[in-house]
Amino acid sequence: MPYSATYIVTGKPYKTVSDLFETRRLRVLLPRPLLGPLDYACGQELLAGDSPLKTGDFVRVPLAGRKEIGVVWADGNHEEEGDLLPLEKLKPIQQRLSLPPLPDTLCRFIDWVADYTLTQPGAVLKMAMSVPRAVEEMPRRTLYVGGGSLPSKMTDARRAVLAVAADGRARSVQDFARRADVSASVVRGLVKAESLLPIQVAGDDDFPVPDGFRHGPALSNDQTAAALALREGVQQGAFAVYLLEGVTGSGKTEVYFEAIAEAIRATTGQVMVLLPEIALTSQWLDRFRERFGEAPVVWHSDLTLAQRRRAWMAVASGQARVVVGARSALFLPFAELSLIVVDEEHSPTYKQEEGVMYNARDMAVVRGKMSACAVVLASATPSLETLINAQSEKYHWLYLGERHGEAVLPDIEAIDMRKMKMPAGQWLSPPLVDALGAGLEKGEQSLLYLNRRGYAPLTLCRSCGHRFECASCSAWLVEHRHKHQLMCHHCGYHTTMPDKCPSCEAEDSLAACGPGVERLAEEVERLWPEARVAIMASDVMGHPERARQMIRQITDHEVDIIIGTQIVTKGYHFPALTLVGVIDADLGLGGGDPRAAERTFQQLEQVAGRAGRAEKPGRVFLQSYMPDHPVMAALIAGERDAFYEQEAESRERQGMPPFGKLVGLILSGADMAKVADAARHFVRYAPRDPRIQVLGPVPAPLARLRDRHRYRILLKAEKGINVQKVLSHWQKTAPKMKGVRLQIDVDPHSFY
Ligand code: ADP
Ligand code: ZN
Repeated sequence: MPYSATYIVTGKPYKTVSDLFETRRLRVLLPRPLLGPLDYACGQELLAGDSPLKTGDFVRVPLAGRKEIGVVWADGNHEEEGDLLPLEKLKPIQQRLSLPPLPDTLCRFIDWVADYTLTQPGAVLKMAMSVPRAVEEMPRRTLYVGGGSLPSKMTDARRAVLAVAADGRARSVQDFARRADVSASVVRGLVKAESLLPIQVAGDDDFPVPDGFRHGPALSNDQTAAALALREGVQQGAFAVYLLEGVTGSGKTEVYFEAIAEAIRATTGQVMVLLPEIALTSQWLDRFRERFGEAPVVWHSDLTLAQRRRAWMAVASGQARVVVGARSALFLPFAELSLIVVDEEHSPTYKQEEGVMYNARDMAVVRGKMSACAVVLASATPSLETLINAQSEKYHWLYLGERHGEAVLPDIEAIDMRKMKMPAGQWLSPPLVDALGAGLEKGEQSLLYLNRRGYAPLTLCRSCGHRFECASCSAWLVEHRHKHQLMCHHCGYHTTMPDKCPSCEAEDSLAACGPGVERLAEEVERLWPEARVAIMASDVMGHPERARQMIRQITDHEVDIIIGTQIVTKGYHFPALTLVGVIDADLGLGGGDPRAAERTFQQLEQVAGRAGRAEKPGRVFLQSYMPDHPVMAALIAGERDAFYEQEAESRERQGMPPFGKLVGLILSGADMAKVADAARHFVRYAPRDPRIQVLGPVPAPLARLRDRHRYRILLKAEKGINVQKVLSHWQKTAPKMKGVRLQIDVDPHSFY
């Protein structure tokens, strides 16, 4: 039997023919959150032949009496020989699946993410494996090829189809119709006439390939320079990170589109674009299609299983050239990445807050390094982390200082709410009301920003003072008046709005406290009954199709006043929008988040950036009780640099990220006393090192979540410390805690 270097299972070539017939020990990783790779026996039938089993291959293995799909991860002859089960006791690998193997870079990436986030690789693999089951039932379908008899009746339309068929490729009816620019019935006619012949194939349709040769708009000098740098980065095919910074509306998207075009023009190579809230970014998709003639491959959690399979397979084969997705797109089996773009890189939505708590922005850089490709981080308000990396020249820094064309940055001013005598139940100050009224009169569009979904954040009984709280969480229930419901925004619990107080049974005694977007809409409708109002919030926009429709209405100026939560900050371009009013500019400044000031600055700058993006200049009002706060002052004066400098200084002084490292530890369980006890006990085993501080335990600000009591510990370390090592050691030395779960959040972004 011939054998060669291809008979490598995991990097160790077989030396002799007899090796080939041995059963071997292999490690297989299963997509199970609590598991690392497990040992299995691999029989020679899987090792011999034309394509012997290798790392990355999908296999079926037995686990606890069930059959599971896993991935061959490594050779079984690992270091800790002591606890190895003898080969004959291992369960055998049962079958190899006919799926493309996970690329080696992805396997290494999965291990890296697991190590960094202190989770098991099985948990990370799970994110990369949402598809194999679907692939097993790969559909068989009928495609058509040319080469049949010529039709008795020839028409121009038919001729066009046969011209497309001349290359001999098998295509679906729709594909022929689209390429020949004729209706599907023309193609079906040719099938009937036996001019096109059917063939059965397994698998899905190819995705259309975006056209990298189409021309984009003429770029300004700054844009050209930035685009050139990015295109060179793509050509070089080496790891390099670019911060593409530019004020809102400066054309960052146009610029990185040039880099994407460069990548598509190469014969191979794939592009991954990460966007926050992909399900809501219909505008981006429309722009992409306009620029490149075809849609990109989309990846997000709303895809059906069949769509998922089709995308996954096309990514694995390299056929999908541009994939745009939410953070989970990071774990797709890209065969060959040539460019990664992370748009709105500062966005908090890149941090996954449960399961594997990773930051997709940071992991995109890691993935880029492993794939030796260019990584573009784009933002008008970069995270301090990224900015510092640009300043220290770890990242290339590209800057667009002006808005495109005639558009100028909006004027920002504060409304000092301490001086406004606001009547109960009203939130729009007189200056803002005047400005909105004037805008309506001129036929211009306005946006009111309030980062609070629903009608009111708190409901209480005026007779007995009863407050509606979630039964499972330490949080108020939020009234959603449209749905006639009270909802917990933490666990999703909801109940019909009662008509009397459940505590004292008083009728008509329930009072809404504070505003949410729905209540603000009520105030607007009271003031201007004729105005067309739209609420942009995740629960209202819901399904992507609904969102797309709303975005189109707003873009086409079928809406006068938009009332939105943080969703509106996601890079939308509404040309008619000239006025922005921020209802409560101070809302994000409280709490124990070390990034509170940075976040608030970014959010408000982004909201402000929606105004005046076309010919007409924009105006922004910030309603604030702290108009002198450094964040407000910087926004008003347009002193972005000074703000970042100040913020960097203060973070450095306090040893906060990116100058120091944080790890959040959350202990939770059903029994409060037990959790408190366990937390106190656990810190006794904390590392003793002058460069490390351990703070807590303290009850978490959200002390109860989904019926679990929560305690927090915060580890703060100097930058040079390997916190992963410190934590593994800590975890190993501390005794096991029964009934208490420990969640580790490396580089935490939320502190509730
Ligand atoms: P950013 O991503 O920086 O917010 P965009 O790329 O969305 O900016 O650009 C803002 C608007 O200006 C978009 O409508 C875009 O199409 C337009 N634009 C930007 N640069 C150009 C250009 N060079 N030529 C024509 N239109 C441009
Ligand atoms: Zn709840």
